[in-house]
Amino acid sequence: MNAGCVPVGGLMKNMVADGMLGVGDAVNQVNPIHGGGIAESITAGRIAGGVIAKAIAAKDCSAKALGEYNKIWWKERGDGLVKVEKVREAFEQMSDDQMNDLIDVLSGEDLVGFSKGTNLPKLAKVLIKYKMKGIARSIGF
Ligand SMILES: Cc1cc2nc3c(=O)[nH]c(=O)nc-3n(C[C@H](O)[C@H](O)[C@H](O)COP(=O)(O)OP(=O)(O)OC[C@H]3O[C@@H](n4cnc5c(N)ncnc54)[C@H](O)[C@@H]3O)c2cc1C
Repeated sequence: MNAGCVPVGGLMKNMVADGMLGVGDAVNQVNPIHGGGIAESITAGRIAGGVIAKAIAAKDCSAKALGEYNKIWWKERGDGLVKVEKVREAFEQMSDDQMNDLIDVLSGEDLVGFSKGTNLPKLAKVLIKYKMKGIARSIGF
């Protein structure tokens, strides 16, 4: 038995196969920075429901037909979560002292923004100011 794990990171480009579609933890749909997956599962479930209903009505549950789910989910959630993953990777590279420097200048709102993949230019600006250019580059700046 494997229990209590949260699949942070490792978002999947393809989450469907013939007659099969994955939602939630089963396809790593969690926020990579804080591990929250309830809202992600609900959002993906809503998208999946629409695509599955359409596929059943058309009597076509092939991977090709279900592939619309990949496209919609990546546009609505995946692309944003990839940014969040990069923010987490940036924080993982920091030393305790660097973290302490950042905490002095970032607000709670900034941190909430980072967990949503927004506010990245501000994070990059702070990283550059504190001579963490390599880390800033890793999030695309
Ligand atoms: C300790 C912990 C704390 C967490 N805290 C938060 C939080 O505060 N906020 C947040 O948003 N997320 C949190 N998460 C993550 C969140 O719980 C999951 O991301 C979310 O529940 C995923 O939903 P799901 O429907 O994909 O999977 P699950 O909720 O795991 O549901 C899968 C279901 O499938 C059932 N199942 C498995 N195998 C079979 C089988 N062969 N046949 C039939 N049924 C089967 C399981 O029993 C389970 O009921 C936490 C996770 C953990 C482990």
